[in-house]
Amino acid sequence: MPSNIRQQISLLVKLQEVELSIQRTLLDLSRVEGRTAELDAQLCEFETAVESGKAHILELSKRIRALESDLQTVQGRVEKSQEKLRSVKTNKEYQSGLKEIDDLSAIGSKIEDEILAGMEQVEVASASVKDHQARLNAQAGLIRAEKESVLRDAEQARRRLEGMRADATALTDRIAAEALALYRRVKAKKANGVAICPVSAEVCGGCHVNIPPQMYNELQRVDRLKNCPNCERIIYWDEDQNRSE
Ligand SMILES: [Zn+2]
Repeated sequence: MPSNIRQQISLLVKLQEVELSIQRTLLDLSRVEGRTAELDAQLCEFETAVESGKAHILELSKRIRALESDLQTVQGRVEKSQEKLRSVKTNKEYQSGLKEIDDLSAIGSKIEDEILAGMEQVEVASASVKDHQARLNAQAGLIRAEKESVLRDAEQARRRLEGMRADATALTDRIAAEALALYRRVKAKKANGVAICPVSAEVCGGCHVNIPPQMYNELQRVDRLKNCPNCERIIYWDEDQNRSE
């Protein structure tokens, strides 16, 4: 039944096309999770930079407030010492009072310097937060849009996959059990999933090795399924290809 073998070959070729598409789609889908995680990480990096900058400013502000309170305490003590100085009796007491005020004033200016340095740090940190925030504002929309597009593509791929699986089932239902079993057996051994391929110009399309002339002649009769003696793939005579040569 040559016409039946022709039909079986045509169905197997179609099945292989669908199965290879399924394989490619599954590979694409397997990359989706990694890609969205990558985009999430990018967004998180910007957000973290802004958040940690803000936390740093908060910490600096707290330190400045503590220093300001220390300064007030020192200034209070200076005032008290100045008051005491007005009522001292001896020169010795006066000198020691002056020294106390000098010492306290030195501590006070040291604190003032620290406050100024802290305020400068706040300024630098604020500029950096502003910069990170601007980058976040500019990038967040793009990153979210890309993630949405990746997920949308994945959803479409999943729907296509359903359709392809249905097509594959419909095709396998029409293929003779023996032919299908042979196809499955060969396919299981082939890493690239190609189990059936045409022969043109006496060369196997799967392994590119020459087919023996006797077999090539038999192939043209299309009366039964044959395997490539080299790679075992199911081979068929590609009428269209061979005619055009
Ligand atoms: Zn071969």
